[in-house]
Amino acid sequence: MMSSPRSNEPPKRRPSASRGGSSAVASSARPVRTCVGCGERDNSPALVCAVLDDAGQPVVDLAGRPSAFEGRGVWIHPERRCLERAARHGLSRGFRAGVKLSPEQLLEAVAGAANRRVAGLLGSAMRGRHLAVGADAVSDAWAQGSAELVVLTRDAAAARKLSCVAAAEALGRLAEWGDKSALGTVLHRPDTAIIAVLDTGLASAVRTALAAAGLVSPAFAGEQGTRVSSKLAETNEAAQVVDESTEDR
Ligand SMILES: [Zn+2]
Repeated sequence: MMSSPRSNEPPKRRPSASRGGSSAVASSARPVRTCVGCGERDNSPALVCAVLDDAGQPVVDLAGRPSAFEGRGVWIHPERRCLERAARHGLSRGFRAGVKLSPEQLLEAVAGAANRRVAGLLGSAMRGRHLAVGADAVSDAWAQGSAELVVLTRDAAAARKLSCVAAAEALGRLAEWGDKSALGTVLHRPDTAIIAVLDTGLASAVRTALAAAGLVSPAFAGEQGTRVSSKLAETNEAAQVVDESTEDR
């Protein structure tokens, strides 16, 4: 699956949508990109894309190339190590322009984009009925085995004591994000403290975005949160390995 160099050939017809495409989020075509931080190649869903705005500042999008911007896009793993290296050298090289940005500023930009991505994904999951919302619905979904990822707000007190929360945490399927008011705003349902994502593809995309959001203002509270965060990152990597190896079986 090599990407062809740019040429003046007529655009190739897109493959028909009748195959694959079972997930609302993951693209069936997975172009391979090079991270400007570590220099390694990876599937583009595992990377974030940055473009330069009119002022020469990088704009980051977790859902792929920001469509409102023209010009060259660069790709980076949403991981501290890669972002720090990208801020020092990789961005300027990738953009072929001097980009003055501290590692902290780039981390902030990625975390901000990640939080917007989480909100967008949860909003569309709500509209697509891929969410269990509230303690009762989440407990039911967990009991039925349909909860892919349980998301708790940082200020959830009662919901934190639910048995399904402990079970989800033990399986690395618990995440924390925002507060009741923020989640309520995203879902148009005031003061929501707990939800479960029911769709596998959406849950995977939410995990990726949550891990990136946790780079700066931790999406996961305290020391325990760091543990959950790294657990999520591992689960993500495991999921990608499974994705790539399914054709071998
Ligand atoms: Zn990298």
